[in-house]
Amino acid sequence: MKRSQAPRPEVLVIGGGATGAGITRDLAMRGAEVLLVEAGDFSAGASGGNHGMLHSGGRYAVKDPQAARECASEGRILKRIARFCIDDCGGTFVSVAGDDPDYPPRFLDSCRAAGVWTEEISPEEVRREEPNLTGELRSAVRVADAAIDPFFLVWGNVESAREAGADVRNHCPLTSLEVSDGTITGAVVGRGSERTVVRPEIVINATGAWSGWTSEMAGLRTEAQLDKGTMVVFNGRLVNGLVNRLRPPADGDILVPHRSATILGTTSGAGGLDDVRATAGEVRRLLAEARVVMPEITSARMVRAYAGVRPLAGGSEKGREASRGFRIVDHREEGVDNFLSVIGGKLTTYRLMAEKAADEVMSMLGRKGACRTMVEEMLPPDGALNLPAFIAGRYGGLAGAISADCRSSPLGLDEACSCEGVLRGELEHFSSSPDVRSCSDLMRRTRAGMGFCQGGLCVFQLAAAVDEGDPLAAAEGFMAERWKGIGPVLVGDQLRQEAFKANLFRSYGIDHTGGRP
Ligand SMILES: Cc1cc2nc3c(=O)[nH]c(=O)nc-3n(C[C@H](O)[C@H](O)[C@H](O)COP(=O)(O)OP(=O)(O)OC[C@H]3O[C@@H](n4cnc5c(N)ncnc54)[C@H](O)[C@@H]3O)c2cc1C
Repeated sequence: MKRSQAPRPEVLVIGGGATGAGITRDLAMRGAEVLLVEAGDFSAGASGGNHGMLHSGGRYAVKDPQAARECASEGRILKRIARFCIDDCGGTFVSVAGDDPDYPPRFLDSCRAAGVWTEEISPEEVRREEPNLTGELRSAVRVADAAIDPFFLVWGNVESAREAGADVRNHCPLTSLEVSDGTITGAVVGRGSERTVVRPEIVINATGAWSGWTSEMAGLRTEAQLDKGTMVVFNGRLVNGLVNRLRPPADGDILVPHRSATILGTTSGAGGLDDVRATAGEVRRLLAEARVVMPEITSARMVRAYAGVRPLAGGSEKGREASRGFRIVDHREEGVDNFLSVIGGKLTTYRLMAEKAADEVMSMLGRKGACRTMVEEMLPPDGALNLPAFIAGRYGGLAGAISADCRSSPLGLDEACSCEGVLRGELEHFSSSPDVRSCSDLMRRTRAGMGFCQGGLCVFQLAAAVDEGDPLAAAEGFMAERWKGIGPVLVGDQLRQEAFKANLFRSYGIDHTGGRP
């Protein structure tokens, strides 16, 4: 085993989802020396497998007022500091005939008590704004929900943390921890020739659903409840703002418009972490629920389904009943004095979790430094002129540099992905980063391959841009990954699309399903 010289960061953060990236940004902005290691790509876990809803707090107001309060205040903060990845399109809770008539007044009272902004509106007004909804609406309440692009949120935190001096590495798993006399003295990170030992003063476990395994490396137990949720992506915006069902949270009761798509979700059920996938049965369940508020949804074009695993903070309640709050566990009481685990929470509250964890770390380091993440904008617009709107909207303050790369490259302004409007220059810009090792890494940074043809027409552009050795194998691997989500929604237009792809790829000797049924 090759081990390079041990870097000595003050803090090692394990896990590059929203929580770990947020903690790293916060600590780096306070002047701490931080190393973040992520086993896969950033957003490989729940941060890349969620609904992308920036919660106003409404969904939790009745059952979980503390989580509602946190969502309400964090939603307001994120709309200020992460503008580049948020579509502040607003949301509406609607009830239909047959829903409990006592729930809307309870909802309004609970929102008021938790500081969640609401406005009652008439069903007619909702129908004017959301013409695809049923004519059977009974009551409606407007809230401050918004859509957030989680891939770009995490990427923004990573880039901002690097700007503040943090060392951030993806494709770099933590594989073991050395513990001596109740202190973590070393951590082995990285694979193969990149493997190295680091000797941090403090280690933070931000590995979400994996936090139990990470704690075990230090000989400890950390309880995080795993709860699987499935979502379906539709082509086009079926709603203009978010639509929630005005009832206690249940399956299939939220529609979120996301850029060129709409996402319906979610389910909730016990789940493990091996090969997390949506199933056709879950898709049918979601559609059955959603058609009550949007009857035509069954004829809308489904593009893919995907699933994620919620890392819940634990306790006696399970699934939807479990709190969406978070805990920061200081493992001193269990005998390891420089180890914290951050468990639970929401994407919406990642910044608050990061702030609280960073407060604790600064106090353990005996250092001063106040949190600045609630006021300092992430990737603020750089004022560059003449940027295509979609590039400016995607990349915040880095849009100017990316746009300049597009213009300076001979084919940089050619379209690479027509579904998502991604240029070749965008692929070239990101493929030169050491973070990008696969077509999927490139997709998460640009959205190329996320549209309705699911990479059918741009996969070779992606494969040509990344250096994965054999481009045909890279293309096949990417298509097989996309296929996992297409399999459960194979009907209508998407079935025709896949038949077209099967014929297209056969001529290259590629099985775009990766040989999976
Ligand atoms: C179905 C579903 C829908 C959701 N919808 C929403 C929503 O609409 N709005 C909202 O606010 N929240 C939502 N959430 C919750 C939200 O997604 C999570 O709370 C949040 O993303 C958790 O982020 P995290 O960084 O803590 O965990 P993760 O994103 O899971 O990150 C943990 C990371 O640790 C890495 N890791 C694991 N082991 C190691 C190791 N040994 N070495 C290095 N790295 C390691 C993993 O690869 C992973 O990237 C949803 C969750 C699910 C599952």
